[in-house]
Parts: sequence; C-alpha cells; structure tokens
Amino acid sequence: MNAAEQKEQAKFHEELRQSVRSICRKYPDEYWRELDAESAYPEAFVNDITKNGFLAALIPEEYGGSGLGIMEASIILEEINRSGGNAGACHAQMYTMGTLLRHGSLEQKRTYLPKIADGSLRLQAFGVTEPNTGTDTTKLRTFAEKKGDKYIVNGQKVFISRAEHSDLMILLVRTTPLEHVKKKTEGLSVLLVDLKTSIGNGLTIKPIRTMMNHATTELFMEDLEVPAENLIGEEGKGFRYILDGMNAERILIAAECIGDGRWFVERAANYAKERVVFNRPIGQNQGIQFPIAKAHVQIEAADLMRIKASELFDRGESCGAEANMAKLLAADASWEAANAALQTHGGYGFTEEYDIERKFRETRLYQVAPISTNLILSYVSEHVLGLPRSY
Ligand SMILES: Cc1cc2nc3c(=O)[nH]c(=O)nc-3n(C[C@H](O)[C@H](O)[C@H](O)COP(=O)(O)OP(=O)(O)OC[C@H]3O[C@@H](n4cnc5c(N)ncnc54)[C@H](O)[C@@H]3O)c2cc1C
Repeated sequence: MNAAEQKEQAKFHEELRQSVRSICRKYPDEYWRELDAESAYPEAFVNDITKNGFLAALIPEEYGGSGLGIMEASIILEEINRSGGNAGACHAQMYTMGTLLRHGSLEQKRTYLPKIADGSLRLQAFGVTEPNTGTDTTKLRTFAEKKGDKYIVNGQKVFISRAEHSDLMILLVRTTPLEHVKKKTEGLSVLLVDLKTSIGNGLTIKPIRTMMNHATTELFMEDLEVPAENLIGEEGKGFRYILDGMNAERILIAAECIGDGRWFVERAANYAKERVVFNRPIGQNQGIQFPIAKAHVQIEAADLMRIKASELFDRGESCGAEANMAKLLAADASWEAANAALQTHGGYGFTEEYDIERKFRETRLYQVAPISTNLILSYVSEHVLGLPRSY
C-alpha cells in the first residue's frame, strides 16, 4: 500500500470508528448494567448494530454485506467494548458466518447469507464444546448418523452461547466413529441447524448462569433430525473447516480485549485525576499511576500484533501464529487493565454503579474462552518454536 492509500485507509477506519460509536452512545453504561442485573440479552443493541450493517462487515457485497476485511470487522467489535458494551452478545455472527461463506455450497450461501446480512436470520450460535471432552475437540461424542435425506443427531454440548437468541447454529458433530478413522481429526462434520424448528423436536436448550451476562447454554440432542442438505462442505472434513475460522476468531476477540483495555485505562485515569485523598488526586501517586501506565503500554503493544495479524489475514497470508499471539497479548493486557482499574477505584470499583466490576468479570472470560491461554502457548510452542507436541 502506498502512502496515499494508507492515508485513505486510516481515514476510513476513523470514520468507521465514529459511526460505531454513534450507535454505542445510544446504549450507555446503565443499559448494560441493567441487562447484567437481569441476565438479559441486549436485544435492542444487537438489532441496532445489525440493522446498520455492522455485523455483516465480512459478508461479501454480492450477498448483501459490506465485503470488508478482518481489520474493519475487528474495529467494529473493539469499539463496542471500548464504549463499555459487550460485543460477546453478537461477535460469533462474524466468525461463524465464515464457515458458511468459505465451505458452504452456492445454494446455501444464496439462501442464508443475504438474510444474515439484513438481520432477518441470526447465526450467533457455534456448537463445539462438550462436557466430557472439553478442549480435546476431536474426541467429541455428539454423533450424526445419516439416514436417507436426514442426519439423526444425538449428544450433548455445553457453553453454547446465544443459542436462545439465534436462528441458526453451526454444529460440529462426529459422522464417523473415532475408532474408524486414520487420523482423529477426520470423521467430524459441520451441520447448519435451524434452532427454531429444532427446539422441542429433539433439541433442548438449558441456560447456564455464569459470573457475567453471557447467555450461554447447555444443549441436549436426542434424535434431532437435520436435513442432509444442511451439511456444510464435505462429510468428515468439518474439523478443518472449524480450524479455518479460528484465525478470524482470535483476531476479533483480541480486538474486543483491546477495546476493554482502553475502556479500563480511560476510566482508571479519569478517576485517578478526580479522586482526592490526602489533599491530592490519587493519580499523583506513582503507586496509582504506574499500573495504569503499564496497562496502557501493554494494550498498545497487543494492538500492534492485532494489526499485524489482521493485515496478514486480509492479504490471505498465513497468520496462525500472529492471530494466536494477538489474542494472548490482548487478553492479558485487558486483564491487567481491569485489575489496575479496580485497584484505582478502591471500594467504589466493587460497586455496580461504576461498571468496573461488570467489565472486570466480562474481560476475565477471555483468559479461558473461546480458547484458553494455555492452548495458545501450546500452539506457539509446537508450531512456532518446533517443540514436541504435548497432547
Ligand atoms: C461464557 C462461556 C462461553 C462459551 N461459549 C462457547 C460457545 O459459544 N461455543 C463453544 O463451543 N464453546 C464455548 N465455550 C467453551 C469454551 O471454549 C471452553 O470452556 C474452553 O475451550 C475450555 O474448555 P473446558 O471448559 O472444557 O476446559 P477443559 O478442557 O476442561 O480445560 C480446563 C483447563 O485446563 C487447561 N488444559 C486442558 N488441557 C491442557 C493441556 N494439554 N495443556 C495445558 N492446559 C490444558 C485448559 O486450558 C483450561 O484452563 C464457552 C465458555 C464459556 C465459559
């Protein structure tokens, strides 16, 4: 990119930030605080951000989206979290949609993508994790047996977020038993499940209360019928399709963490300037300044890795290492910033009205989900440093 193009891109990114901010301003702290207290889904916000086309950023223009890159998509999610909101309510639409876009048939894409883009269908649910196998995905036990023109699905999933607020779910299942495949990554398939028609017809959804408002659930599938035409891509290749989406997911989550981190730093710095104890602002004490400054430095560093990963991704180059590192750095930085903000606010940080404790709980999730810090370090050890595989 030459200098003029870079300038043009920077201008576009700033305009994009401003337009996301103008929507987020309609949903202030009180909005998110009330939802948190009631464990309610941010229906109005999600509808608004969808209606304005932001969740369709990655959908190509021919299917009604805006055909933007991961950099722009990540800016959108970053700004939601930067405003004090929680993009976790809707982020999955961006990365789960990629499985359909990259591996779905032309007919599937024509059927679903325009509706996802205009908001008449929500693809917010992504069903991978299972209670008995956790991170060891290839051992998952949910099985889909093909009978005529249907798959009959039996099994259980856990921590499947937004299933009650989504129309569609990308579901990873086994279609060939583990003992019948050469490699454990073979024999897994991806099905597109119509949640609305499945509930009560083989699918039961039970909400799980968590420490933050995340609308996560447990799914029980008992002879759930899924039309065979809802298979995405080829049978048995589903694990690769899911892996394909992981880099996008890592980059987008990194951006949310950066948004959180910037929110914490700004709130902490503002409070430290205003709160007077011992006749001076607490921010005059280096014991208060340094943790906030350190968090700021770490967020800016993480952002550089997120930009690097996004640029590689958008050029179609391999970016597994960078996407994983961006996620790890950003999740650590936001957590550091959350701690600094809580400490800076003293007792008030623990009260609901300052929103620090709410965001503190929300950003803590990113140490574990959608991928835990250990698993990223394991990826870097094996794939970047060439260390022996540990699992
Ligand atoms: C709020 C929330 C929302 C979620 N949303 C979704 C969703 O929408 N869809 C979905 O499919 N999943 C979702 N998840 C699941 C999430 O991705 C998993 O919780 C996560 O991948 C870890 O799996 P687990 O909980 O089974 O932990 P386990 O696999 O039991 O691991 C427990 C701990 O041990 C560590 N560990 C395990 N094996 C190793 C190893 N070999 N080396 C080092 N450390 C290891 C892990 O890193 C982790 O810290 C969500 C989880 C939460 C909490």
